[in-house]
Amino acid sequence: GVAVGRRVSSRRKWGRVIDVLKELEEGCDTPVGRLKQVVDAVAVEMHAGLASEGGSKLRMLLTFVDNLPSGREKGTFYALDLGGTYFRVLRVQLGGQRSSILSHDVERQPIPEHLMTGRTKDLFDFIASVFKQFVEREESGSGYPLDRRRDLGFTFSFPVKQTSVSSGILMKWTKGFAIEDMVGKEVVACLQEAFTRNGLDVRVAALVNDTVGTLALGHYHDADTVAAVIIGTGTNACYVERTDAIIKCQGLLTTSGGMVVNMEWGNFWSSHLPRTSYDVDLDADSPNPNDQGFEKMISGMYLGEIVRRVILRMTLESDIFGPVSSKTPLMAAMHEDDSPDLTEVERILRDILEVRDVPLKVRKLAVNVCDVVTRRAARLAAAGIVGILKKIGRDGSGGIVSGRSRPDTRMRRTVVAIEGGLYTNYGMFREYLNEAVVEILGEEVAQHVILRETEDGSGIGAALLAASNSSRNVDTVQ
Ligand code: BGC
Ligand code: MG
Repeated sequence: GVAVGRRVSSRRKWGRVIDVLKELEEGCDTPVGRLKQVVDAVAVEMHAGLASEGGSKLRMLLTFVDNLPSGREKGTFYALDLGGTYFRVLRVQLGGQRSSILSHDVERQPIPEHLMTGRTKDLFDFIASVFKQFVEREESGSGYPLDRRRDLGFTFSFPVKQTSVSSGILMKWTKGFAIEDMVGKEVVACLQEAFTRNGLDVRVAALVNDTVGTLALGHYHDADTVAAVIIGTGTNACYVERTDAIIKCQGLLTTSGGMVVNMEWGNFWSSHLPRTSYDVDLDADSPNPNDQGFEKMISGMYLGEIVRRVILRMTLESDIFGPVSSKTPLMAAMHEDDSPDLTEVERILRDILEVRDVPLKVRKLAVNVCDVVTRRAARLAAAGIVGILKKIGRDGSGGIVSGRSRPDTRMRRTVVAIEGGLYTNYGMFREYLNEAVVEILGEEVAQHVILRETEDGSGIGAALLAASNSSRNVDTVQ
């Protein structure tokens, strides 16, 4: 009768939903063999991007940071951090001895969405006014005059073609920012003009990518730090390269013989990446199609959106969910619900996504989708990290410490600083990433590789770089 008919058809619908999940799992599969192909592709593209301008989708941008903070920096420095969901202002007091950050104050404000797609002037007036309020409060507390000159580091986390450590031109926007009239402009000039309009005397001593700030702080705490990775709204990495390996810039001379290179790995691409129809559709619907392909598989701005698209597809195949939308923080909360009957998952699906009466097996399915999408993202990020280690000879392929290995082939202690909301707030993501690094490198090599969380690194690091560049003009001979 009717009841039997309905049961059969609901079983058939469930079968179709499971097919969608299976197809997703296959499409997102990242066995260690494939990850190793990604590792190799990253190392190859790094070489290509260093060899010539435009030689690779990896831009491998010069930063003109040739000396990381020594630890002797002293005084009060500021940082402005723009490039994710929040805008931050920091004041950092440095004591003049290694790892003596005496204090730091942070203020953070969400960036109003209309400013991300409006006009340059409005965005920078917002930045200057938040900074002004910050120093006004400081003035009333400590007697610093408002017009006193302040040195700051500006963390601007977008692809910038640097012309010195404190200047550069915006190449393109990412992460949903789209202020057309700013592309091609001098970033620091835009900021300086806004300071002048707001009556502030500020010297921008360093213009840095967030990865570079993170590397600076990581290195300040631990001199074995060779690279930094951000996995937040967007994703990227930087590392210390030998100047003679930066072929595209012949004759680059620095006192250290090295320079930090901003990889802009969010734009990495390789045919070895496991791509699904959801990725293709997400890309096509994004404000920057055919761009930032690696970022769109990994970072917080996109993971929740991939999950939403999968669940939507399941909805179209059946009626197990209602109309849904999802955001990555909700995804993390669902994924990490360890209660036996997944009450948190139910709460989120019901209250926030306005779905009613979700049976346990459907809740489990939602968790499954989160798991597949996050696992792929974390493992690809891990392959990116190992790709850098391979490029700089820290992946153990030259031999590792052991009784019999020659001293010159020893695997040295290697620290990678990591920051960003996805890595710090999403435990499952972090676990999958850490686990994959060990899987790719093997336990013996992996024990020498330390992934270190660097809280507020992008901001504090920018203040450190402002300090180390405030009294001298770092210029390279070209
Ligand atoms: C930007 C990078 C930045 C990364 C993390 C990417 O979208 O292109 O410059 O480092 O996001 O914030
Ligand atoms: Mg950030």
